[in-house]
Amino acid sequence: MTLSVAIIGSGPSGFYTAESLMRTIDDVEIDIIEKLPTPYGLIRGGVAPDHAKTKNIARTYEKTARDPRVRYYGNVTLGADIGLEALRGIYDAVVLATGAAVDRPLGIPGDGKAGVLGVAAFVGWYNGHPDFRDLDPPLDTQAVAVIGVGNVAVDVARVLTKTPNEMAATDLTDYAAAAIHAAPIRDVYMFGRRAPHHAKFSNVELREMGQLEDSAPVLDPAELTPDVPEDFAATLSDRDLRMTRRNLATLHDFAAMEPAGRTKRVHFRFYASPVEILGGDRVEGIRMERTRIEGGRAVGTGETFDIACRLVIPAIGYYSEPVDGVPFESGRSRNRDGRIEPGLYAVGWIKRGPSGVIGSNKPDGTAAAQQIVEDCGAGAGKPGRAALDNHLQANNIRVVSFDDWKRIEVAEESAAAPPAPRRKFGRVPEMLAVLD
Ligand SMILES: Cc1cc2nc3c(=O)[nH]c(=O)nc-3n(C[C@H](O)[C@H](O)[C@H](O)COP(=O)(O)OP(=O)(O)OC[C@H]3O[C@@H](n4cnc5c(N)ncnc54)[C@H](O)[C@@H]3O)c2cc1C
Repeated sequence: MTLSVAIIGSGPSGFYTAESLMRTIDDVEIDIIEKLPTPYGLIRGGVAPDHAKTKNIARTYEKTARDPRVRYYGNVTLGADIGLEALRGIYDAVVLATGAAVDRPLGIPGDGKAGVLGVAAFVGWYNGHPDFRDLDPPLDTQAVAVIGVGNVAVDVARVLTKTPNEMAATDLTDYAAAAIHAAPIRDVYMFGRRAPHHAKFSNVELREMGQLEDSAPVLDPAELTPDVPEDFAATLSDRDLRMTRRNLATLHDFAAMEPAGRTKRVHFRFYASPVEILGGDRVEGIRMERTRIEGGRAVGTGETFDIACRLVIPAIGYYSEPVDGVPFESGRSRNRDGRIEPGLYAVGWIKRGPSGVIGSNKPDGTAAAQQIVEDCGAGAGKPGRAALDNHLQANNIRVVSFDDWKRIEVAEESAAAPPAPRRKFGRVPEMLAVLD
Protein backbone atom coordinates (compact mmCIF):
# COMPACT_ATOMS: atom_id res chain seq x y z
CA MET A 1 0.00 0.00 0.00
CA THR A 2 1.15 3.56 -0.67
CA LEU A 3 0.68 6.26 1.93
CA SER A 4 -0.79 9.31 0.22
CA VAL A 5 -0.14 12.77 1.66
CA ALA A 6 -1.21 16.21 0.47
CA ILE A 7 0.84 19.13 1.74
CA ILE A 8 -0.84 22.51 1.29
CA GLY A 9 1.74 25.26 0.81
CA SER A 10 5.23 25.11 -0.69
CA GLY A 11 7.11 27.29 1.80
CA PRO A 12 9.88 25.99 4.05
CA SER A 13 7.53 24.08 6.35
CA GLY A 14 5.86 22.29 3.44
CA PHE A 15 9.18 21.23 1.94
CA TYR A 16 10.66 20.15 5.30
CA THR A 17 7.58 17.98 5.84
CA ALA A 18 7.98 16.33 2.42
CA GLU A 19 11.68 15.75 3.13
CA SER A 20 10.97 14.15 6.53
CA LEU A 21 8.19 11.97 5.14
CA MET A 22 10.49 10.60 2.46
CA ARG A 23 13.12 9.82 5.08
CA THR A 24 10.56 8.16 7.36
CA ILE A 25 8.70 5.99 4.85
CA ASP A 26 9.66 4.67 1.40
CA ASP A 27 6.27 3.90 -0.02
CA VAL A 28 4.78 7.36 0.05
CA GLU A 29 3.24 9.67 -2.55
CA ILE A 30 3.42 13.36 -1.67
CA ASP A 31 1.55 16.10 -3.49
CA ILE A 32 2.48 19.68 -2.71
CA ILE A 33 -0.42 22.00 -3.49
CA GLU A 34 0.48 25.69 -3.86
CA LYS A 35 -1.82 28.60 -4.68
CA LEU A 36 0.82 30.51 -6.65
CA PRO A 37 2.47 29.20 -9.81
CA THR A 38 5.81 29.85 -8.04
CA PRO A 39 7.04 27.72 -5.12
CA TYR A 40 8.89 28.47 -1.84
CA GLY A 41 6.50 30.79 0.02
CA LEU A 42 8.29 33.57 1.90
CA ILE A 43 11.68 32.55 0.50
CA ARG A 44 10.50 34.19 -2.70
CA GLY A 45 7.89 36.60 -1.35
CA GLY A 46 9.30 37.64 2.05
CA VAL A 47 13.08 37.32 2.34
CA ALA A 48 14.66 40.62 1.33
CA PRO A 49 15.68 40.97 -2.33
CA ASP A 50 19.24 41.94 -1.38
CA HIS A 51 19.77 38.81 0.72
CA ALA A 52 20.31 36.35 -2.10
CA LYS A 53 22.31 33.89 0.00
CA THR A 54 19.35 33.30 2.32
CA LYS A 55 17.34 32.16 -0.71
CA ASN A 56 19.88 29.45 -1.65
CA ILE A 57 18.03 27.06 0.63
CA ALA A 58 15.52 26.72 -2.23
CA ARG A 59 18.07 24.49 -4.00
CA THR A 60 17.57 21.86 -1.30
CA TYR A 61 13.81 22.14 -1.71
CA GLU A 62 14.22 21.67 -5.45
CA LYS A 63 15.90 18.30 -4.84
CA THR A 64 12.85 17.27 -2.81
CA ALA A 65 10.49 18.47 -5.54
CA ARG A 66 12.45 16.38 -8.09
CA ASP A 67 12.05 13.13 -6.15
CA PRO A 68 9.78 10.75 -8.09
CA ARG A 69 7.56 10.37 -4.99
CA VAL A 70 6.76 14.10 -4.96
CA ARG A 71 4.60 16.13 -7.31
CA TYR A 72 4.15 19.90 -7.29
CA TYR A 73 0.71 21.31 -8.06
CA GLY A 74 1.21 25.05 -8.51
CA ASN A 75 -1.63 27.49 -9.17
CA VAL A 76 -4.06 25.39 -7.11
CA THR A 77 -5.71 27.00 -4.07
CA LEU A 78 -7.10 25.13 -1.11
CA GLY A 79 -10.59 26.50 -0.49
CA ALA A 80 -11.11 27.80 -4.03
CA ASP A 81 -10.01 24.99 -6.36
CA ILE A 82 -10.52 22.13 -3.92
CA GLY A 83 -11.93 21.97 -0.38
CA LEU A 84 -10.38 20.42 2.70
CA GLU A 85 -13.11 17.81 3.04
CA ALA A 86 -12.55 16.64 -0.54
CA LEU A 87 -8.79 16.42 0.04
CA ARG A 88 -9.23 14.47 3.25
CA GLY A 89 -11.51 12.09 1.37
CA ILE A 90 -8.82 11.25 -1.18
CA TYR A 91 -5.56 11.41 0.86
CA ASP A 92 -4.52 9.43 3.93
CA ALA A 93 -3.12 12.61 5.46
CA VAL A 94 -3.38 16.33 4.77
CA VAL A 95 -0.77 18.76 6.11
CA LEU A 96 -1.52 22.49 6.30
CA ALA A 97 1.64 24.51 5.59
CA THR A 98 -0.08 27.70 4.50
CA GLY A 99 1.91 30.15 6.64
CA ALA A 100 0.67 33.40 8.20
CA ALA A 101 0.34 36.08 5.57
CA VAL A 102 -2.29 38.38 7.06
CA ASP A 103 -0.98 41.56 8.74
CA ARG A 104 -1.96 42.12 12.35
CA PRO A 105 -3.65 45.53 12.42
CA LEU A 106 -2.35 48.34 14.63
CA GLY A 107 -5.73 48.74 16.31
CA ILE A 108 -5.44 52.50 16.96
CA PRO A 109 -7.61 55.39 15.76
CA GLY A 110 -6.94 56.23 12.12
CA ASP A 111 -5.28 52.92 11.19
CA GLY A 112 -7.71 52.54 8.27
CA LYS A 113 -6.42 55.70 6.50
CA ALA A 114 -4.84 55.43 3.07
CA GLY A 115 -1.11 55.17 3.62
CA VAL A 116 -1.19 52.60 6.43
CA LEU A 117 0.10 49.42 4.80
CA GLY A 118 0.89 46.23 6.69
CA VAL A 119 4.39 44.93 6.25
CA ALA A 120 3.29 41.63 4.65
CA ALA A 121 1.59 43.66 1.92
CA PHE A 122 4.49 46.09 1.51
CA VAL A 123 7.17 43.38 1.40
CA GLY A 124 4.95 41.29 -0.89
CA TRP A 125 4.71 44.29 -3.20
CA TYR A 126 8.44 44.87 -3.56
CA ASN A 127 9.09 41.13 -3.81
CA GLY A 128 6.64 40.48 -6.65
CA HIS A 129 3.87 38.62 -4.80
CA PRO A 130 0.92 38.79 -7.25
CA ASP A 131 -1.59 39.56 -4.44
CA PHE A 132 0.16 42.91 -3.88
CA ARG A 133 1.19 43.91 -7.40
CA ASP A 134 -1.31 46.77 -7.45
CA LEU A 135 -0.66 48.04 -3.92
CA ASP A 136 0.72 51.35 -5.19
CA PRO A 137 2.22 52.48 -1.85
CA PRO A 138 2.32 56.25 -1.30
CA LEU A 139 6.05 56.84 -1.58
CA ASP A 140 5.65 60.59 -2.21
CA THR A 141 6.92 61.18 1.30
CA GLN A 142 10.12 62.33 2.97
CA ALA A 143 9.49 60.18 6.03
CA VAL A 144 8.23 56.65 6.61
CA ALA A 145 7.26 55.21 10.00
CA VAL A 146 7.80 51.49 10.54
CA ILE A 147 6.15 50.18 13.68
CA GLY A 148 8.17 47.36 15.17
CA VAL A 149 11.82 46.62 15.73
CA GLY A 150 12.78 43.24 14.33
CA ASN A 151 14.45 41.77 11.29
CA VAL A 152 11.52 42.46 8.98
CA ALA A 153 11.41 46.13 10.03
CA VAL A 154 15.16 46.32 9.37
CA ASP A 155 14.63 44.73 5.92
CA VAL A 156 12.08 47.40 5.03
CA ALA A 157 14.24 50.27 6.32
CA ARG A 158 17.20 48.94 4.33
CA VAL A 159 15.32 48.40 1.08
CA LEU A 160 13.86 51.91 1.36
CA THR A 161 17.24 53.58 1.89
CA LYS A 162 19.73 51.57 -0.17
CA THR A 163 20.94 53.25 -3.35
CA PRO A 164 20.13 51.95 -6.87
CA ASN A 165 23.77 50.87 -7.01
CA GLU A 166 23.40 48.82 -3.82
CA MET A 167 20.21 47.21 -5.18
CA ALA A 168 21.52 46.51 -8.69
CA ALA A 169 22.53 42.90 -8.00
CA THR A 170 19.27 42.03 -6.23
CA ASP A 171 15.91 40.68 -7.36
CA LEU A 172 13.95 43.75 -6.24
CA THR A 173 11.10 43.97 -8.75
CA ASP A 174 11.68 46.59 -11.42
CA TYR A 175 8.41 48.45 -10.68
CA ALA A 176 9.30 48.66 -6.96
CA ALA A 177 12.86 49.78 -7.73
CA ALA A 178 11.52 52.54 -9.97
CA ALA A 179 9.05 53.74 -7.33
CA ILE A 180 11.42 53.51 -4.34
CA HIS A 181 14.39 55.12 -6.06
CA ALA A 182 12.27 58.03 -7.35
CA ALA A 183 10.82 58.65 -3.87
CA PRO A 184 11.99 61.67 -1.85
CA ILE A 185 12.44 59.53 1.29
CA ARG A 186 15.01 60.98 3.73
CA ASP A 187 14.01 59.57 7.10
CA VAL A 188 12.81 56.12 8.06
CA TYR A 189 11.70 55.79 11.68
CA MET A 190 11.59 52.40 13.37
CA PHE A 191 9.64 52.42 16.62
CA GLY A 192 9.84 49.87 19.43
CA ARG A 193 7.55 50.00 22.45
CA ARG A 194 10.13 48.60 24.80
CA ALA A 195 13.86 49.01 25.44
CA PRO A 196 16.70 48.38 22.97
CA HIS A 197 17.60 45.12 24.74
CA HIS A 198 14.08 43.80 24.11
CA ALA A 199 14.44 44.07 20.32
CA LYS A 200 15.08 40.80 18.50
CA PHE A 201 17.43 41.68 15.65
CA SER A 202 19.82 39.27 13.98
CA ASN A 203 23.14 40.98 14.61
CA VAL A 204 24.44 40.60 11.04
CA GLU A 205 21.36 42.39 9.69
CA LEU A 206 21.52 45.08 12.34
CA ARG A 207 25.21 45.81 11.66
CA GLU A 208 24.49 46.12 7.96
CA MET A 209 22.50 49.27 8.78
CA GLY A 210 25.77 50.97 9.71
CA GLN A 211 27.44 50.03 6.42
CA LEU A 212 25.09 51.53 3.83
CA GLU A 213 26.30 53.87 1.07
CA ASP A 214 23.93 56.77 1.61
CA SER A 215 22.04 55.98 4.82
CA ALA A 216 23.14 56.39 8.42
CA PRO A 217 21.60 54.94 11.59
CA VAL A 218 20.51 57.52 14.17
CA LEU A 219 19.98 56.74 17.81
CA ASP A 220 19.58 58.64 21.06
CA PRO A 221 22.38 57.39 23.35
CA ALA A 222 20.18 58.22 26.36
CA GLU A 223 17.95 55.26 25.37
CA LEU A 224 20.83 52.81 25.72
CA THR A 225 21.95 51.06 28.90
CA PRO A 226 25.67 50.14 29.15
CA ASP A 227 24.80 46.44 29.36
CA VAL A 228 21.69 44.20 29.32
CA PRO A 229 19.98 44.88 32.70
CA GLU A 230 20.55 42.01 35.11
CA ASP A 231 16.88 41.18 35.73
CA PHE A 232 16.26 40.85 31.98
CA ALA A 233 19.52 38.97 31.37
CA ALA A 234 18.40 36.38 33.94
CA THR A 235 15.39 35.52 31.72
CA LEU A 236 17.52 34.78 28.63
CA SER A 237 19.32 31.63 27.50
CA ASP A 238 23.12 31.98 27.18
CA ARG A 239 22.75 32.16 23.41
CA ASP A 240 20.05 34.86 23.51
CA LEU A 241 22.03 36.86 26.05
CA ARG A 242 25.11 36.78 23.80
CA MET A 243 23.00 37.94 20.87
CA THR A 244 21.31 40.70 22.88
CA ARG A 245 24.72 41.95 24.10
CA ARG A 246 26.03 42.01 20.53
CA ASN A 247 22.99 43.98 19.40
CA LEU A 248 23.35 46.45 22.25
CA ALA A 249 27.03 46.95 21.36
CA THR A 250 26.04 47.57 17.72
CA LEU A 251 23.44 50.14 18.81
CA HIS A 252 26.11 51.88 20.93
CA ASP A 253 28.32 52.00 17.82
CA PHE A 254 25.43 53.53 15.87
CA ALA A 255 24.87 56.18 18.54
CA ALA A 256 28.51 57.22 18.23
CA MET A 257 28.53 57.17 14.43
CA GLU A 258 28.89 60.28 12.25
CA PRO A 259 26.54 60.40 9.21
CA ALA A 260 29.59 61.41 7.09
CA GLY A 261 27.72 63.07 4.25
CA ARG A 262 25.08 60.37 3.92
CA THR A 263 21.73 61.92 3.00
CA LYS A 264 19.30 59.36 4.45
CA ARG A 265 18.71 58.40 8.04
CA VAL A 266 17.21 55.37 9.74
CA HIS A 267 16.11 56.37 13.23
CA PHE A 268 15.97 53.64 15.87
CA ARG A 269 13.44 54.92 18.43
CA PHE A 270 12.65 52.88 21.52
CA TYR A 271 10.18 53.43 24.39
CA ALA A 272 7.53 54.68 21.95
CA SER A 273 4.09 53.25 21.19
CA PRO A 274 1.72 54.42 18.43
CA VAL A 275 -1.52 55.94 19.67
CA GLU A 276 -3.09 57.61 16.62
CA ILE A 277 -2.66 57.98 12.88
CA LEU A 278 -3.05 61.64 11.98
CA GLY A 279 -4.54 63.22 8.87
CA GLY A 280 -7.76 63.26 6.87
CA ASP A 281 -8.52 60.41 4.47
CA ARG A 282 -4.85 59.77 4.10
CA VAL A 283 -1.97 59.62 6.52
CA GLU A 284 -0.23 62.87 7.37
CA GLY A 285 1.59 61.71 10.47
CA ILE A 286 1.67 59.45 13.46
CA ARG A 287 1.28 60.27 17.17
CA MET A 288 3.53 58.26 19.44
CA GLU A 289 3.35 57.96 23.22
CA ARG A 290 6.50 57.62 25.25
CA THR A 291 6.60 54.51 27.38
CA ARG A 292 8.47 53.21 30.39
CA ILE A 293 9.05 49.60 31.37
CA GLU A 294 7.20 48.14 34.35
CA GLY A 295 7.60 44.45 35.10
CA GLY A 296 9.00 43.89 31.61
CA ARG A 297 6.00 45.56 29.95
CA ALA A 298 5.74 48.91 28.20
CA VAL A 299 3.29 51.29 29.85
CA GLY A 300 2.28 54.68 28.48
CA THR A 301 3.53 57.82 30.21
CA GLY A 302 0.92 60.14 28.70
CA GLU A 303 3.64 62.17 26.98
CA THR A 304 3.25 62.15 23.19
CA PHE A 305 5.11 63.37 20.14
CA ASP A 306 4.19 63.49 16.44
CA ILE A 307 6.14 62.49 13.34
CA ALA A 308 5.01 63.85 9.98
CA CYS A 309 4.92 61.10 7.34
CA ARG A 310 2.65 59.86 4.58
CA LEU A 311 3.40 56.16 4.90
CA VAL A 312 3.07 54.01 8.05
CA ILE A 313 4.09 50.36 7.92
CA PRO A 314 3.05 48.29 10.93
CA ALA A 315 5.40 45.31 11.31
CA ILE A 316 3.87 43.89 14.45
CA GLY A 317 3.00 40.33 13.49
CA TYR A 318 0.79 38.21 11.27
CA TYR A 319 -2.20 35.93 11.43
CA SER A 320 -2.87 32.82 9.39
CA GLU A 321 -5.76 32.78 6.97
CA PRO A 322 -8.47 30.57 8.52
CA VAL A 323 -9.13 27.29 6.72
CA ASP A 324 -12.76 26.10 6.51
CA GLY A 325 -13.33 23.21 8.88
CA VAL A 326 -10.20 23.85 10.98
CA PRO A 327 -10.47 25.24 14.52
CA PHE A 328 -8.53 28.50 14.90
CA GLU A 329 -7.36 30.45 17.93
CA SER A 330 -4.96 33.39 18.34
CA GLY A 331 -4.55 33.66 14.57
CA ARG A 332 -3.37 30.08 13.96
CA SER A 333 -4.74 26.56 13.83
CA ARG A 334 -5.53 24.87 17.12
CA ASN A 335 -3.23 21.85 17.27
CA ARG A 336 -1.22 19.64 19.62
CA ASP A 337 2.38 19.82 18.47
CA GLY A 338 1.01 20.04 14.93
CA ARG A 339 -1.69 17.37 15.12
CA ILE A 340 -5.09 18.94 14.52
CA GLU A 341 -6.69 15.50 14.52
CA PRO A 342 -5.53 12.14 13.15
CA GLY A 343 -5.16 12.59 9.39
CA LEU A 344 -4.87 16.42 9.58
CA TYR A 345 -1.72 18.29 10.63
CA ALA A 346 -0.23 21.78 10.72
CA VAL A 347 3.40 22.82 10.24
CA GLY A 348 5.30 26.10 10.15
CA TRP A 349 3.67 29.43 10.86
CA ILE A 350 0.08 28.15 10.74
CA LYS A 351 1.11 25.73 13.50
CA ARG A 352 3.32 27.93 15.71
CA GLY A 353 2.52 31.46 14.68
CA PRO A 354 4.97 33.81 12.93
CA SER A 355 8.25 33.28 14.71
CA GLY A 356 11.76 32.07 14.08
CA VAL A 357 13.88 31.71 11.00
CA ILE A 358 13.62 29.40 8.02
CA GLY A 359 15.34 26.53 9.85
CA SER A 360 12.88 26.82 12.77
CA ASN A 361 10.30 25.14 10.53
CA LYS A 362 12.32 21.97 10.13
CA PRO A 363 11.39 20.26 13.42
CA ASP A 364 7.71 20.76 12.50
CA GLY A 365 8.23 18.61 9.41
CA THR A 366 9.92 15.90 11.47
CA ALA A 367 7.07 15.90 14.03
CA ALA A 368 4.39 15.80 11.33
CA ALA A 369 6.06 12.87 9.51
CA GLN A 370 6.22 10.89 12.75
CA GLN A 371 2.61 11.64 13.64
CA ILE A 372 1.41 10.72 10.15
CA VAL A 373 3.13 7.35 10.31
CA GLU A 374 1.75 6.79 13.84
CA ASP A 375 -1.80 7.69 12.81
CA CYS A 376 -2.00 6.39 9.25
CA GLY A 377 0.55 3.56 9.15
CA ALA A 378 1.17 2.48 5.57
CA GLY A 379 -2.05 4.14 4.38
CA ALA A 380 -5.61 2.96 3.89
CA GLY A 381 -5.49 2.62 0.11
CA LYS A 382 -7.00 6.01 -0.63
CA PRO A 383 -6.61 7.09 -4.27
CA GLY A 384 -4.57 10.28 -3.59
CA ARG A 385 -2.94 11.76 -6.70
CA ALA A 386 -5.14 10.00 -9.26
CA ALA A 387 -8.27 11.42 -7.65
CA LEU A 388 -6.73 14.91 -7.38
CA ASP A 389 -5.85 14.83 -11.09
CA ASN A 390 -9.44 13.83 -11.91
CA HIS A 391 -10.86 16.62 -9.77
CA LEU A 392 -8.58 19.29 -11.27
CA GLN A 393 -9.26 18.15 -14.82
CA ALA A 394 -13.01 17.93 -14.27
CA ASN A 395 -12.97 21.48 -12.91
CA ASN A 396 -10.73 22.90 -15.62
CA ILE A 397 -8.07 24.04 -13.20
CA ARG A 398 -4.79 24.93 -14.80
CA VAL A 399 -1.98 23.26 -12.89
CA VAL A 400 1.58 24.59 -12.99
CA SER A 401 3.94 21.63 -12.64
CA PHE A 402 7.46 21.85 -11.27
CA ASP A 403 8.87 21.73 -14.80
CA ASP A 404 6.51 24.57 -15.72
CA TRP A 405 7.85 26.58 -12.76
CA LYS A 406 11.40 25.96 -13.98
CA ARG A 407 10.40 27.43 -17.34
CA ILE A 408 9.00 30.50 -15.58
CA GLU A 409 12.25 30.73 -13.62
CA VAL A 410 14.35 30.56 -16.80
CA ALA A 411 12.21 33.31 -18.34
CA GLU A 412 12.73 35.47 -15.24
CA GLU A 413 16.47 34.88 -15.34
CA SER A 414 16.80 35.67 -19.02
CA ALA A 415 14.76 38.88 -18.64
CA ALA A 416 17.09 40.19 -15.92
CA ALA A 417 19.43 43.11 -16.49
CA PRO A 418 22.80 41.92 -15.11
CA PRO A 419 23.96 41.93 -12.36
CA ALA A 420 20.35 41.29 -11.20
CA PRO A 421 19.78 37.52 -10.92
CA ARG A 422 16.20 37.62 -12.23
CA ARG A 423 13.42 39.95 -13.22
CA LYS A 424 10.41 38.67 -11.33
CA PHE A 425 6.96 38.55 -12.85
CA GLY A 426 4.46 40.25 -10.59
CA ARG A 427 1.27 38.89 -12.12
CA VAL A 428 -0.01 35.33 -12.54
CA PRO A 429 -1.11 35.83 -16.20
CA GLU A 430 2.45 36.97 -17.04
CA MET A 431 3.79 33.76 -15.54
CA LEU A 432 1.25 31.58 -17.33
CA ALA A 433 1.95 33.36 -20.63
CA VAL A 434 5.49 31.94 -20.50
CA LEU A 435 3.97 28.46 -20.65
CA ASP A 436 1.59 29.13 -23.56
C1 LIG B 1 9.14 39.62 5.36
C2 LIG B 1 9.81 38.39 5.89
C3 LIG B 1 11.18 38.22 5.72
C4 LIG B 1 11.81 37.09 6.24
N1 LIG B 1 13.14 36.95 6.08
C5 LIG B 1 13.78 35.88 6.58
C6 LIG B 1 15.19 35.74 6.45
O1 LIG B 1 15.86 36.60 5.86
N2 LIG B 1 15.78 34.63 6.98
C7 LIG B 1 15.06 33.66 7.64
O2 LIG B 1 15.63 32.67 8.11
N3 LIG B 1 13.69 33.77 7.78
C8 LIG B 1 13.06 34.85 7.29
N4 LIG B 1 11.71 34.97 7.43
C9 LIG B 1 10.96 33.89 8.11
C10 LIG B 1 10.64 32.72 7.14
O3 LIG B 1 10.32 33.24 5.89
C11 LIG B 1 9.51 31.85 7.72
O4 LIG B 1 10.01 31.21 8.89
C12 LIG B 1 8.99 30.76 6.79
O5 LIG B 1 8.79 31.20 5.47
C13 LIG B 1 7.67 30.17 7.29
O6 LIG B 1 7.37 29.06 6.49
P1 LIG B 1 5.90 28.51 6.21
O7 LIG B 1 6.09 27.34 5.32
O8 LIG B 1 5.18 28.29 7.50
O9 LIG B 1 5.12 29.70 5.47
P2 LIG B 1 5.32 30.42 4.07
O10 LIG B 1 6.75 30.57 3.74
O11 LIG B 1 4.49 31.64 4.15
O12 LIG B 1 4.65 29.43 2.99
C14 LIG B 1 3.26 29.25 2.93
C15 LIG B 1 2.88 28.86 1.51
O13 LIG B 1 1.51 28.43 1.49
C16 LIG B 1 0.88 28.95 0.33
N5 LIG B 1 -0.56 29.02 0.58
C17 LIG B 1 -1.20 29.83 1.45
N6 LIG B 1 -2.52 29.62 1.41
C18 LIG B 1 -2.74 28.64 0.49
C19 LIG B 1 -3.91 27.98 0.00
N7 LIG B 1 -5.14 28.30 0.45
N8 LIG B 1 -3.76 27.02 -0.96
C20 LIG B 1 -2.52 26.69 -1.42
N9 LIG B 1 -1.38 27.30 -1.00
C21 LIG B 1 -1.49 28.25 -0.04
C22 LIG B 1 1.52 30.31 0.16
O14 LIG B 1 1.35 30.83 -1.17
C23 LIG B 1 2.98 30.00 0.50
O15 LIG B 1 3.71 29.60 -0.63
C24 LIG B 1 11.06 36.10 6.93
C25 LIG B 1 9.67 36.29 7.10
C26 LIG B 1 9.06 37.42 6.59
C27 LIG B 1 7.59 37.61 6.79
